[in-house]
Amino acid sequence: MKIEHTAEPQNNDTKRQYLPIVITDTCKCGREVKMDLRREYLSYPDFNAPIPVTLYCGDCGEERTHNVVLRVRMEEVFEGQAPA
Ligand SMILES: [Zn+2]
Repeated sequence: MKIEHTAEPQNNDTKRQYLPIVITDTCKCGREVKMDLRREYLSYPDFNAPIPVTLYCGDCGEERTHNVVLRVRMEEVFEGQAPA
């Protein structure tokens, strides 16, 4: 079996996309700000295209937006093999 990954942008028609990803940033005030995508969702995030994510600091109210890209990898898993 062959799995081919392309870099083409792809629409993701998912209103609430949860992911096993945690984003951490440091606010201007020095506080660590986290976006836990296991609990907070992205709305209709495209694959292979820039996605703005905004992290909010609950201490000082500062918002900072970063662009990220969501890439997907698919791998074959053999029987009895636990995905790493
Ligand atoms: Zn802050």
